[in-house]
Amino acid sequence: MELIDLSRELFHRTQAHPSHPPVIVTVWGDHSEKKVAGNTVFTSKALSLAMSDHAGSHVDAPCHFDPRPGALSIDQMPLERFFTSAICLDLSHVALKGQVTVPEMEAALAASGETIQPGDTVLLHMATNDRLLGKPGYLHDFPGLALESVHWLADKGIGMFGVEAISPAPEGEPNFQAHMACAERGITHMECLANLDRLIGRGRFTFIGFPLKIRGGTASPIRAVALFP
Ligand SMILES: [Zn+2]
Repeated sequence: MELIDLSRELFHRTQAHPSHPPVIVTVWGDHSEKKVAGNTVFTSKALSLAMSDHAGSHVDAPCHFDPRPGALSIDQMPLERFFTSAICLDLSHVALKGQVTVPEMEAALAASGETIQPGDTVLLHMATNDRLLGKPGYLHDFPGLALESVHWLADKGIGMFGVEAISPAPEGEPNFQAHMACAERGITHMECLANLDRLIGRGRFTFIGFPLKIRGGTASPIRAVALFP
């Protein structure tokens, strides 16, 4: 069995979407603080975290992008959505700020030698982290899906797709439209993933990325993992 970690680190410099608060990490208590009970002296260390529910590698809940009453929050989503069969498509040729078209999706799927099955998670390697992570451009210059490519994935019956960028489509109108298409088609997506290059040429795997049970959460950080038997 092989596990590939698809998550980014959460720390005080984790790049956060400009419309969300940053990750704040402080020391709540450390080993300098001694607790005594009877003859026993005990010390412990703990951190305090403050962050967006969209911090780091995360999955969006429908209530984030769907204003209709009843759109599911993260704690209401079935766990089956986060433990699925999966493939990763190589779209690393896409230009920064570019949009992947349906013919490019079809070519990448053919190159993978796989087919998309209902309920699949489909990860999209666009070499975003290689080109942008840690740089100011990470927040603005990322590539993504053309609107029709979101519908193409939905037409194939996927459960969710995932990208390394902070958004599934380029900044501004394409990104808004991609989120609204997810609402319309009953799918969702993950953002800020990592190591998708390590899945290329590996075929089908099991995707695992459970969200935290945040009451009313509009998203949740996940520890995303690809499992190969
Ligand atoms: Zn999103």
